[in-house]
Amino acid sequence: MSPSSKELKRGSLFVVSTPIGNLEDITLRALRILKEVDLIAAEDTRRTGLLLKHFGIETPLTSYFEGNELKKGKWLMNRLKEGQRVALVSDAGTPGISDPGYRLIRLAIENGIPVIPIPGPSAIVTALSISGLPTDAFLFKGFLPHKSKKRKETLQELKEIRETLIFYESPHRLIDTLKDIFEILGDREVVLARELTKVYEETLRGKVSEVIDLLKERKIKGEITLILSGNTRKEKSFLTPESTSEDHKNSEKL
Ligand code: SAM
Repeated sequence: MSPSSKELKRGSLFVVSTPIGNLEDITLRALRILKEVDLIAAEDTRRTGLLLKHFGIETPLTSYFEGNELKKGKWLMNRLKEGQRVALVSDAGTPGISDPGYRLIRLAIENGIPVIPIPGPSAIVTALSISGLPTDAFLFKGFLPHKSKKRKETLQELKEIRETLIFYESPHRLIDTLKDIFEILGDREVVLARELTKVYEETLRGKVSEVIDLLKERKIKGEITLILSGNTRKEKSFLTPESTSEDHKNSEKL
């Protein structure tokens, strides 16, 4: 029996990825699971309600968000233990990635509930895939601290990281964050991915200073993912020209 024709296992939590903008970016499997589960726990029931309506899905919705997650988490565990099949969806993208979903996933694991991933889009991978920066290794840092002092401290900790860096950022803090990046990490290559998969999708590429210049006169809106080149400074040669000649001198003496 192929996995798609299997009856959904009772008492399981399905972690279902949904589009990060364009509604066509949902998998056939995600649609089937959302149709077949007994209950959908959504970060934003209004937003998920629109998605379900678009696809003619009538599964009952309940809210699960930062604020009700303790009480609601226990309630959902009881539903799962009774044998209900529950789908977890976030505002957009993959649940648990920089959203409260991970707490429910952890709780389910602690309670011995099967947790089943239904993969799909996530802003991290979507932005990284078109960045043109190295993708073999990367560090996702989520949202940087809101206050400049803390943000600079976090950036300082990332200074020596060689891997490509990925951040989520709000449009209100974007310019300040880019200025802090410039000050702490230098004029690195940056890719600003805005409103991916949506009508006003835009990708800006350049040095941090160039992107700051481009944005100076603009009012920035929408959802943003920033991709930044890692520390690509060449490692100092173990034998610098000076030390080489010194070594030679010494070896001549020996
Ligand atoms: N769980 C989601 C995922 O897998 O992509 C991320 C949730 S996080 C709370 C939301 C942040 O993701 C936004 O503030 C923005 O930084 C980034 N994001 C979401 N949708 C995006 C899009 N369409 N384009 C660029 N960045 C996006």
